[in-house]
Amino acid sequence: MRKFECSVCGFVYDPEQGLPEQGIPPGTPFEALPAEFCCPVCGAGKSEFNPLALSPQDGSEASVQLQTTVLEVIPRTPSIKSFRLAAPDRVRFKPGQYLSLSLRPEAGFTRYLSISNSPTEEGYLEVTKRITQSAFSRMLDRTGPGCPVSVTYPMGKFTFEGEFAKIALLSGGIGITPLRSMVRYAFDKQLDTGICLLYANRTLEEVAFKAEFDAMQEAGSRIKVVHTLSRAGSGWTGRTGRIDAALIREEVPDYHERRFYLCGPPLMVEGLTGVLRDELRIPEAQIETEGFTGY
Ligand code: FE
Repeated sequence: MRKFECSVCGFVYDPEQGLPEQGIPPGTPFEALPAEFCCPVCGAGKSEFNPLALSPQDGSEASVQLQTTVLEVIPRTPSIKSFRLAAPDRVRFKPGQYLSLSLRPEAGFTRYLSISNSPTEEGYLEVTKRITQSAFSRMLDRTGPGCPVSVTYPMGKFTFEGEFAKIALLSGGIGITPLRSMVRYAFDKQLDTGICLLYANRTLEEVAFKAEFDAMQEAGSRIKVVHTLSRAGSGWTGRTGRIDAALIREEVPDYHERRFYLCGPPLMVEGLTGVLRDELRIPEAQIETEGFTGY
């Protein structure tokens, strides 16, 4: 049975695994899926899927399934935690890709999460999630070192490995995870790429990876990080409000020379794509987006 790939987000449907959370049992061929089937990650329809090449021509690696365990849980903010999962030393993925994480696949506890570490950080795969009241969140929050999990990786086309001389990364909240992987990768590899990260949050305490981003900015002249807060406290001297055309013009004056990467809640990604396209006249071909439906 062939695997099929979503042409929009790169999600791979594996008939051997099915999609138990959508009521599709393992062993269901793609052709047998109902007409109303849609991508569990981005919501694209069945017609957006194409058969996955058996031996990818573009150098990308087919996704693999890995039975593994949690190594470490790292609190990032009061509501965000990173989960490090043991992985082979040479983990093959590109910065920006995502994985599927199953806690109890038979019960439908599977979610698609960006990989928040960089391929330069070896020996583990890290996902970073806001812990909400959802059943999956609560179950994930109860895991700890040694707990068994199953992951399928890598998936996704929202990647950066140094292809462009200048990039701008726009993100809000937990949408930072694939961008954190890209920035860490560029920093560790000492890429020549000029990076400007605009990162929107409500409050300072909600900013994930802040100390790390600030340290990378101080150590490397090619990385600029701009935080903007919508509910800043009285002591905040940085930018306030949302990411808009005015903020981009001021902080990224050479925006027309940059490749843009947008990741965050779908509404934010949609809104920012409109700002870039309509107000800043940036061709859509210069804008890469990732909008997960299932944070
Ligand atoms: Fe998709």
